[in-house]
Amino acid sequence: MSEKKLNFSTTKIRTISDCPASLEKGKTLTPRTSLTRWERLNDAIVEWLINEAPEDVAIEEAEKNFSYFDQLQQKILKDLFSRFRDIYDKNNSSINVDYPNSSISKFIDDEEVFISAYTQYEILDDNSTEYIKLKVGKTGVSDLDKAIIQKTKVENETFYIADLQNNELSEIDTVDNPDEIIDESFKFLDKYLSGLREPTPGNHCSMCSRTAVCGQYPVIGGEQTKQNYRGILISKTNLQNKDNCERQLAWKTLFHIPKEERDYESSAGIIGTKFHEYSQSMLVNNKHPHKQGELSRLKDLLINEDQEISEMVLRKYQQLLSEIEGLNNLEITLSEHALGFTCITDGLVLNVSQKLYKGKVATTFMGKADLLGRLDGIPLVVELKTGAQLPEHAIEAKLYALGALIQTKEDEVVVLHIYANDKDKKTVERRFTLKQFDSLVEEFQLIAEKVGNWDPSDSLQPKYNVGEWCNFCDFQNTCVEFR
Ligand code: SF4
Ligand code: SF4
Repeated sequence: MSEKKLNFSTTKIRTISDCPASLEKGKTLTPRTSLTRWERLNDAIVEWLINEAPEDVAIEEAEKNFSYFDQLQQKILKDLFSRFRDIYDKNNSSINVDYPNSSISKFIDDEEVFISAYTQYEILDDNSTEYIKLKVGKTGVSDLDKAIIQKTKVENETFYIADLQNNELSEIDTVDNPDEIIDESFKFLDKYLSGLREPTPGNHCSMCSRTAVCGQYPVIGGEQTKQNYRGILISKTNLQNKDNCERQLAWKTLFHIPKEERDYESSAGIIGTKFHEYSQSMLVNNKHPHKQGELSRLKDLLINEDQEISEMVLRKYQQLLSEIEGLNNLEITLSEHALGFTCITDGLVLNVSQKLYKGKVATTFMGKADLLGRLDGIPLVVELKTGAQLPEHAIEAKLYALGALIQTKEDEVVVLHIYANDKDKKTVERRFTLKQFDSLVEEFQLIAEKVGNWDPSDSLQPKYNVGEWCNFCDFQNTCVEFR
C-alpha cells in the first residue's frame, strides 16, 4: 500500500467544488488584498499573544505588521485587531500558532486522503485545550469544518470562533449529520482525483488566480499569459461605475474594502432577484412562452413566495413577455452564462515578496449574462433590468458583445436590455458586428491600462469623484473620512 498522503483543507474543498479547474497549474500573480490583510492581522494577533511586554508595547509592536498598507487599510486592520483583544482575554497559557488542524482521512485508490479543518490558535493549559478560528468576514464556519471538528475532538478540547464581524467569541456549534457531510466531501474528492476537472465559471472566478489562463476568458490577440503577470478581474457590475468614480471601482474590485452595513435589503432588490430567477426558469428552452397556461405555470412556481413578491414577479414577467412578443425566431437556451475576455497591458505588478515593479497585467472582464440564445439565428444576449435605464448599461452591452463575438466566433451579436418596470418598460437593442471588434477592444484596453496601474497596497490612490451616484455607494462614510 502506498505511503503517499494527500491533504485538502476545507477551504480547498470549497474552492474545487466551485470549480475543479481552479487549482490546476498555471496562474497569475493576483493579489487578494482581503487575504493579505487577513494574514497581516493574524501575524499581529500571534505577536501580541506571545509578547510578554506591557500591553501598550505589545500592541504597538504587533501593529507594525500593518505598516505596508495605506491609512485606510491600516485603520481597518487596527479596528479588527482591537475587536479581537476585546473578545479574547490574553493569559499565560502556552500557545501553538502553527495552524493546528483536525483531520479525517479515507483511502482513495490506495492513497490516504485527508480533509483538514484548520484553526489559528491552540491554547493549552494543564487540563484543557482551546482552539480558536479567526473570522473577519460575514460567512461563519462551514458545515464541513463543524463536522470534522465534531467527529475528531476529544474530551477537554473546546473549539471557538473569534467572529470579528459580530464581536463575539463563541463555541463552534455542531451539525446534525456530520457523517453525511464528510462522506459527500470524500465522494466529491474521489471524482476530483479521478481527473474530472472541467472549468465551471461563475461568480467564484473573482476569487481565482487563473482567469487569464484557464481558457474561459480568452486573451484578446491570443497572447500567452505568463505566471509573472499580474491578474485582475473586473466584473460587469463593478465596471458600470468606471465613469462615475474610480475610487468606488477600485475599492470594490481590487481592494475589497468592507462595504458599509445597510439595515435592510431593499424590497426592490429582493423582487429584482426573484424576477430574474423565475424569468430564467420560465424562458430557458421554452419555445412557446406566450402560449395559454404559461402564466398559471408561473403562479404555481411562485406558490411558496410571499404574496407581494409573487404579485410583483408576475407583473414584471408579463411586462417582459409583452416586450419579447414581437421578436422573430427567439430562442433562449442558457441562463447565468459567464462571458468575458482578457486584455494584456503594461502596468504595475506586485510579486510574492510584495515588491512592486513595472510589468504586464492581465485584466479579465467578465459578466454573467441573464439569458443567452439566438434571435433570428444571430447570437443573442439578454440582460433583464427592473430599475431605470442608465447610460452605464452601454458598457455592459459592449462587454457581453465582445465576449460573445469571441466565444461564438460569429460576425454579429445582438444585446437586448429589457426594462421591466412601470415607468420605462421597453427594450434597448444594440447590434455589434466584427467591424466594431477593434474599437471595442481599444475601449477595454484603456480601462485595463488604468486599473493595471493602481498600486495594490494603496487604496487611496484611485481618485474619488463626488456626484449623485454617491447616494448608491457602499462606502459613503468611509469615503468622506478619507477625502
Ligand atoms: S477562472 Fe473561473 S472557470 Fe477559470 S479556473 Fe478559475 S474559477 Fe474556474
Ligand atoms: S461615496 Fe462617492 S466619491 Fe466616494 S467612493 Fe462612493 S461614489 Fe466615489
